[in-house]
Amino acid sequence: MTAVTVPTSTKFDLGPARALLCRECGNETPLAPEYACLECFGPLEVAYDFGKIRREDIEAGPRSIWRYRGLLPVPSTVEQHPNTDPGGTRLVEAHNLAKALGVRKIWVKDDTGNPTHSFKDRVVGVALAAARELGFKVLACPSTGNLANAVAAAAARAGWKSVVLVPSNLERAKILMSAVYEGALIAVDGNYDDVNRLAQELAAENEDWAFVNVNVRPYYAEGSKTLGYEVAEQLGWRLPDQIVVPIASGSQLTKVDKAFRELGQLDLVEATPYKVFGAQATGCSPISAAFKAGHDVIRPVRPDTIARSLAIGAPADGPYVLDAVRRTNGAIDDVTDEEVVEGIKLLARTEGIFAETAGGVTVATAKKLFESGQLDPDAETVLLITGDGLKTLDALGDTVGPRATVPPSAEAVIKALG
Ligand SMILES: *Cc1c(COP(=O)(O)O)cnc(C)c1O
Ligand SMILES: [Zn+2]
Repeated sequence: MTAVTVPTSTKFDLGPARALLCRECGNETPLAPEYACLECFGPLEVAYDFGKIRREDIEAGPRSIWRYRGLLPVPSTVEQHPNTDPGGTRLVEAHNLAKALGVRKIWVKDDTGNPTHSFKDRVVGVALAAARELGFKVLACPSTGNLANAVAAAAARAGWKSVVLVPSNLERAKILMSAVYEGALIAVDGNYDDVNRLAQELAAENEDWAFVNVNVRPYYAEGSKTLGYEVAEQLGWRLPDQIVVPIASGSQLTKVDKAFRELGQLDLVEATPYKVFGAQATGCSPISAAFKAGHDVIRPVRPDTIARSLAIGAPADGPYVLDAVRRTNGAIDDVTDEEVVEGIKLLARTEGIFAETAGGVTVATAKKLFESGQLDPDAETVLLITGDGLKTLDALGDTVGPRATVPPSAEAVIKALG
């Protein structure tokens, strides 16, 4: 009998990526524009063959996500634009916030500094690079807002067409910040989960449309690893004790965890124990609810919260979030819309950083987890601040504003100051 020869190389150059691996049954398939397992329909994830990767090589790279290209499913010759590429955002030691919360040390990873002011530029950067190699022609997405901004902008810069679907009740700023790039922005009368379903249907009918978080999702999701790599590198090549991550679909949380594990396996950091914590808004907290109830199955909800960027009622990565949080001995909690606004204001007044509602969720959940003793106040904590407050101004309502409105006289100002 002649043995069947299994091809050892695939036709796509996606750097260190070796294959797509089913997260459910472990079935491996060659790199391709696929996202669901042909055996069990489980979600596919990128598997790698990393060569020797040295800190010095990473440190010699550009100050963007592409310094980690040897750890991402992108061609080694990935197009780079040093002035517009995402990543390289600041890690801020938050002395004042730590003091206000009565804890030892907090770092704020401030991802508002990305090109369209949210962490979504990272995932879109990787998705576009992979989509180009996989032969797609149009960049598309269903979005809760920030992804829409990132896809529309990246497509404009790359000279690609874009098709962006959003719920019609989105914040005005996020609609305008998507529309200004003049791709095709479609507002859908429905919630995110309706929009997502629509995207699945359109992806099946339009083979050259890369819906970054649907049919290119295995590649897209890997972009979130760069947050984890950056935090570790900025801490001087070590892992934090605890990290708090906001959850929408849950992809980011699972990939930050994957990044920390990879860094340890590759000896780029010492594999010290760390705990991953998840943050949700109570008005859309299906994963937090499952965690607290000790369930493995996530029951979908109909979102009702000001944290619209996190308002995914049927989170695709929910079970994997539970796995990562339980494996690392972390926890998940959720906060009310009032607490979200308090969280935004607390970060602003202590650190001078203005986060969107998702950042308010992270800060307020961290506060709650410190109070309940689930976050250790004596350990070192990283908070991921993933989007900019300018996008969700309405969330503040009239809770902030001028102390007084006065005539143009010094006397009136002094009087108003009390
Ligand atoms: C999309 C988003 C997240 C989390 O996304 P996942 O779907 O969980 O990966 C967090 N913060 C902001 C601001 C976002 O836009
Ligand atoms: Zn499978």
